[in-house]
Amino acid sequence: MHVTADDERAVIDKTPRRLYVGGQWRDAASGRTFPVEDPSTGEVLCSVADATPKDALAALAAAAQAQDEWAARPPRERGEILQRASELMRARIDELALLMTLEMGKPLAESRGEVTYAAEFFRWFAEQAVRVSGRYATSPDGRSRFLISSQPVGPSVLVTPWNFPLAMGTRKIGPALAAGCTAVVKPAEQTPLSMLALAGILEDAGTPPGVVNLVTTSDPGAVVRALLDDGRARKLSFTGSTEVGRLLMANASTHLMRISMELGGNAPLLVLADADLDVAVDGAMQAKMRNIGEACTAANRIFVAEQIADEFVERLAARMGALTVGRGTEPGVDVGPLIDPPAVAKVTRLVDDAVTRGAKVVVGGAALPGAGHFYRPTVLTNVAEDSAMLAEEIFGPVAPILTFAAEDEAIARANATPYGLVSYLFSRDLDRALRVADRLEAGMVGINQGIVSNPAAPFGGVKHSGLGREGGLEGIEEFLETKYVATPA
Ligand code: NAP
Repeated sequence: MHVTADDERAVIDKTPRRLYVGGQWRDAASGRTFPVEDPSTGEVLCSVADATPKDALAALAAAAQAQDEWAARPPRERGEILQRASELMRARIDELALLMTLEMGKPLAESRGEVTYAAEFFRWFAEQAVRVSGRYATSPDGRSRFLISSQPVGPSVLVTPWNFPLAMGTRKIGPALAAGCTAVVKPAEQTPLSMLALAGILEDAGTPPGVVNLVTTSDPGAVVRALLDDGRARKLSFTGSTEVGRLLMANASTHLMRISMELGGNAPLLVLADADLDVAVDGAMQAKMRNIGEACTAANRIFVAEQIADEFVERLAARMGALTVGRGTEPGVDVGPLIDPPAVAKVTRLVDDAVTRGAKVVVGGAALPGAGHFYRPTVLTNVAEDSAMLAEEIFGPVAPILTFAAEDEAIARANATPYGLVSYLFSRDLDRALRVADRLEAGMVGINQGIVSNPAAPFGGVKHSGLGREGGLEGIEEFLETKYVATPA
């Protein structure tokens, strides 16, 4: 698809820029706005309403007011609204993808992929809305009947990051609405436009006023704090960094809110000596380069059996070096810009630190000069164990390759991190792969594939990568409370 400047302007002009509260689009009470930038140029795309805690509490009041009626709606009707929203997202894929590329930077093809992925969460939870069930039992002594059912948790606060501007929203809004919860959504400051467009879609799909409310803000600390301290919100679902997640867990403890935390990762990718190298290199490219490397699931440490390491590095470096870096709206671009100058500074610091400690740059190794926040796809070998990039999320297009001699050693080193979101492993021997997968400390493992995300599967981590699961049969449970009623037999 060829995109013109007029197309870009049209999609920005069409997108709402105000807060969505109680079914009304309104300015922030302060009248203030904040700018949204294009990371490929550094230019301002437009400005959106800048909510204060007062606006956030108005949104929460609307969610609290709508809660009982929404919970009482037949599940089929709740599901049908989500289904319609899913269809509208697919119908508007071109404009949603362009909007996402403009504010976040990923190439258009990847943005289209995310729109489809995001819409699928609404479809999946539309289907799950009618499948919430309970059970009936008799007490062991025969004197009592147990009726066990599920009820919506209540008004939910949903906080999302910039790296998947739509999917991280639908992955929370879908199960919340399906379960019968109303919501206040707080998207990331750098990518509010995709979520504003999504709020418009939910409105068009017939979501009643107050069921979904959206507050965009440049002051996330104060706004989210106000929502958590108020007492009416019963659930916090957060996706973002471990550091902020930890802080919000503490804040949510005041009112003992239910919490779901999708946090940072430091994914190991293991290439065992018997791996099919074509499959392993394809998988490593996906696990590393999806979303410009700015994914919680990104392969952060690539461990390769020493007897195949040279060939793996050669093939991976050839693929990485052949990628075209540029503005995500341009045809043929594989890798867009990083989100902002601090992101480029972080990747630069991590690569420079590794090189200082002896790493060899096989390909890439530097930011691109000029406008925009671009970094070259990079492969490093000889990375010392004490390099900062092995302990931190790189969040950029940099692949550090480490070698190992034995399977046990690879597993121990893969697990030597406080994080535990996802691990990848490549082997032709399925028994062996399953045995290794069992021992990897991660909420998810990809065997011979570099992408695990799927709306029908439970996504989430262990250790410092979070609590709870999104998607799959588990996703809706995060928004349900168990109620048990006893009655004499
Ligand atoms: P972040 O800085 O933690 O921000 C996430 C969200 O929290 C944003 O909406 C942000 O608002 C808000 N926030 C920031 N500081 C806050 C505070 N003091 N109180 C309340 N809210 C606050 O993370 P990010 O940089 O946007 O996203 C990258 C991180 O997300 C990475 O660590 C990545 O691994 C993780 N992530 C995890 C998953 C997963 O499923 N496990 C998925 C995607 C991303 P502002 O935008 O205004 O700062």
